[in-house]
Amino acid sequence: MKTLYRKFIIATLLILGISIVIAFILANWVYMTSTRERIDAQNVKVAKEVTSSLEQMHSTSHLSFKAYLDSISKLGYQIYVLSETGEEFEFGEPFSKKNLPDEAMKVVEQKEIYHGMDSSRSPWMMMSHFSNQLGNTVGVPFTIGDEDYGLYLRPNNKLLFSDVHVIFAWFFVAVSIVSITGVIWFAKHLIQPITKLTEATREITRENFNFPLNIHRKDEIGQLAESFSTMQVQLQHNDEARKSFINNVSHDFQSPLMNIQGYAELLKTQALDDEHREYVEIIDQESKRLSNLTKQLLLLTSLDQKSYPMKRGMTRIDTQIKETVRRHQWRLEEKEIEISYHLPPAPILADAELLMTVWDNLLTNGIKYNQPGGSIFIKIAQTDGATIITFKDTGIGMSKEQASKAFERFYRVDAARKKDGTGLGLSIVKHIIELHNGKIEVESEIQKGTAFTIKLPIEKQTEE
Ligand code: ADP
Repeated sequence: MKTLYRKFIIATLLILGISIVIAFILANWVYMTSTRERIDAQNVKVAKEVTSSLEQMHSTSHLSFKAYLDSISKLGYQIYVLSETGEEFEFGEPFSKKNLPDEAMKVVEQKEIYHGMDSSRSPWMMMSHFSNQLGNTVGVPFTIGDEDYGLYLRPNNKLLFSDVHVIFAWFFVAVSIVSITGVIWFAKHLIQPITKLTEATREITRENFNFPLNIHRKDEIGQLAESFSTMQVQLQHNDEARKSFINNVSHDFQSPLMNIQGYAELLKTQALDDEHREYVEIIDQESKRLSNLTKQLLLLTSLDQKSYPMKRGMTRIDTQIKETVRRHQWRLEEKEIEISYHLPPAPILADAELLMTVWDNLLTNGIKYNQPGGSIFIKIAQTDGATIITFKDTGIGMSKEQASKAFERFYRVDAARKKDGTGLGLSIVKHIIELHNGKIEVESEIQKGTAFTIKLPIEKQTEE
């Protein structure tokens, strides 16, 4: 959600920047089309009034017009006077550049009015209005005695920026600060519920339908939160219905299946011809598979409950695996599979019953998918903070793609090849390992064999 927040703020700043540029261009256009001429005319008028006052003084002495122009400059003007003999006088704030263009010289030579503030020389156009150059003035001619002069004048920038301008500048700064802070606050306010909704969605994938949203708003986000809460309730309802359906069906399946198995066992003890014995064998096998499937479904649904009651206790993995091997000894012998193991004492805090299911599934798979005369090797290794258990067989193996799907529910590489498979065993194994904060990985090669590696953290287990 951080990115959305960042995007929002960047977009606001970008809009602010673009609006400043557009405002500048617009203001520039207004300045170029009307303001510039008006300011020039005003300044020419002021300059003319100053020169006519000077001419009316009938004084030939420089001293008297100097005093007069000095006092005019104090009213907020920069003034430069050039005589036909090349004498220069400056009043008020000095100019930064004192080069007069040829056009300005016509004021003294041909008694023409110079409009320096009306011509655009700078690429900044509007900003050139404030340039403190001698060329950026208006010039008017005047005569005192027999001598012709040119008076060049422009308003003093310092006085232009009066107190009102300073107040406006602060006003602009305050508006900018308040609006930027406001936008940041608003972005946070807008994005917070979206973060919450994302969290709630994540919780739903973990089958937690009770994540509190606490979003009480009347806008579109409020409506979204409301619909989301309704969906949460509906999903919870569906999930409960699904689980209770599987539960009930699985329970209801168990007793008739036990009956079928019982009768099949009974029939097997009777004298039957080969054909009928085969039928009874099939009934027995299929009912066992169905019974196994319902048991696995029951276990999976109970593991799916977020609050599965784990019965953690100190469990000796090595003893558990040895016990599993012992229980499957007859099948190993029947299929002539050689088993070897390296099982040093490995106590761990875990749910013993669940872990037993893991070893049972891995060993039966190792037997089921082995080749006659193949072998199985089981190993326990302890590393820093973890117990690593490996089940390796020299069986039929799987391709990379098949191995990547092996932990999916109901996935079976070749459903027709093995009749007694359900495709649920490995998904149960993975679920149990994850409940113990562990990890399971598979490495397999077709016709070479398969190795399952389980990593169960020790420290994390003991902390809980
Ligand atoms: P199943 O009840 O079919 O054994 P599992 O979930 O235990 O279901 O296994 C899923 C599929 O992965 C199996 O159908 C099988 O094809 C493949 N598989 C599992 N273990 C092995 C193994 N040790 N060697 C080869 N294939 C395996």
